Amino acid sequence: MTESTATRLDEVSMSLGDDFPDIRESVRRICADFPGAYWRDLEAREAYPTDFVAALTQSGYLGALIPETYGGAGLPLRAGAAILEEIHASGCNAGPCHAQMYIMGTLLRHGSPEQKQRWLPGIASGALRLQAFGVTEPTTGTDTTKLKTRAVRQGDHYVVHGQKVWTSRALHSDLMLLLARTTPQEEVKKKTDGLSVFVVDIRECLGQGLEIKPLKAMINHHATEVFFDGARVPAGNLIGEEGKGFKYILDGMNAERILVGSEAIGDARWFTRTAVAYANDRRVFDRPIGQNQGVQFPIAHAHAQTEAASLLLRKASALFEAGLPCGAEANMGKMLASEAAWHAAEACLQTHGGFGYAKEYDVERKWRETRLMQIAPVSTNMVLAYVAEHVLGLPRSY
Ligand SMILES: Cc1cc2nc3c(=O)[nH]c(=O)nc-3n(C[C@H](O)[C@H](O)[C@H](O)COP(=O)(O)OP(=O)(O)OC[C@H]3O[C@@H](n4cnc5c(N)ncnc54)[C@H](O)[C@@H]3O)c2cc1C
Repeated sequence: MTESTATRLDEVSMSLGDDFPDIRESVRRICADFPGAYWRDLEAREAYPTDFVAALTQSGYLGALIPETYGGAGLPLRAGAAILEEIHASGCNAGPCHAQMYIMGTLLRHGSPEQKQRWLPGIASGALRLQAFGVTEPTTGTDTTKLKTRAVRQGDHYVVHGQKVWTSRALHSDLMLLLARTTPQEEVKKKTDGLSVFVVDIRECLGQGLEIKPLKAMINHHATEVFFDGARVPAGNLIGEEGKGFKYILDGMNAERILVGSEAIGDARWFTRTAVAYANDRRVFDRPIGQNQGVQFPIAHAHAQTEAASLLLRKASALFEAGLPCGAEANMGKMLASEAAWHAAEACLQTHGGFGYAKEYDVERKWRETRLMQIAPVSTNMVLAYVAEHVLGLPRSY
C-alpha cells in the first residue's frame, strides 16, 4: 500500500445506520405490491416479472447509478446497494433486472462520449434494456481468458462466432455486453490481452447470426444459451480499446460483487425476520418453538454473520466510491454475505419444519434463490483463491 493510499484510507467514512432511509421506504412500498403470490405464480409459468420491472423502472431506481447528465439519478454505489438489499429483504427478487443498474458501468467508465450519449439516456429511462452480460462459456467456465467466442474485424464490422451459456435475461434485453476474443491467445503476450468488449444490439442481430434459447434452471432466473454464428456487430460498438476488454470487465466486477452481496444481505434479513416470526408463533409441546435454543441459536448465529458481512460490504462501497482499491473487500463481502444468507435460509427452512417445504410460505423459493449467490457471479472457491494469492501472498493455486 502506498503512503497516499494509506492516508486516503483514513479519510474514508461509512454509514453504520440504515442509510438512505427515504429510498428504502419507497422501495419497500413498491415491493409491497408484489407479494409472495406474485412470485409463485411467475415461477409456475416460468414468466418474467414485467410489472415488477416496470414499477422499478418508473421509480428511476434502476438508473440510480447513471449520472444526471445522462438522465440517471447520479446516486452513489451504496444507494444502489440499499435499493437491492430492500428488494430482497421485502421477499422480492432483483435478479430479473439488477443488471440494468450495473452492466452500464463498463460503458460509463470506458465508452466514448458518443457511445455514452447514444445509449445511457435510454438505459436510464428504461427505454433501452441493457440486462444481458455474455461472459461465461460452456467449455471454459471460470477460466475466462480461455473463452472461445471470436470477433473478427471485417471492414466496419466485427463478425462473431461462438457460444455463451447462463446469459441471464438475454430474451428480456435490447442490448448485451459481450466479451469476445479479438486476437488469438497464441498471438498475445499476456493471456488477459486480446479480449474485447462490445455492445451487441440484440434486436438487430437476432435471427441474423444470433440465436438465444432459454435454459431451464432450478430458479426462475431467465437464463439462456446464446449462439453466435456470423452475427455482425458494428465496429462503433466496440467499447474502449480493442484487446483491453478483460480489464474493463474486471473493474465492473467489484461493483457487481458489492451489489449482489447486498442482495444476499437482504435475503438474510428476510429469512431471519420470517424465521423469528414463525418461531414465536408456532407452538409445539405447549410452548413456542423459538423458546428452544436449538431453534433460536442458528437464527441468532445467521443474524450475527449478516451484520458482519454487511459491515464489510459497506466498507467495500466506501472504498469504491472514494476510487480506492476494493477488490478484496468486494469479493470477501460478497462471499460472506452469500454464506450468511445461506445460513439464514437453512435456519429458516429448519424452523418451519415440514411447512418449510410448502410453497405458500415462500421459504423454499427464497432458499433455492439465495443458494445461487455462492456460485454466481463468482464462486466461493474463486474468491478464496483471490484472497489467498492477492491479499495473503500465497502461491497461485491454478
Ligand atoms: C442462474 C445463473 C445465472 C448466471 N448468469 C450469468 C450471466 O448473466 N452472465 C454470465 O456470463 N454468466 C452467468 N452465470 C455463470 C456464472 O457466473 C458461472 O456459473 C460461475 O462463474 C461459475 O462458472 P462455471 O459454472 O463454469 O463453473 P466452473 O468454472 O466449471 O467451476 C465449477 C466448480 O469448480 C470450482 N473451481 C473451478 N476452478 C477452480 C480452481 N482453480 N480452484 C478451486 N475451485 C475451482 C468452482 O469454484 C466451481 O465451484 C450464471 C450462472 C447461473 C447458475
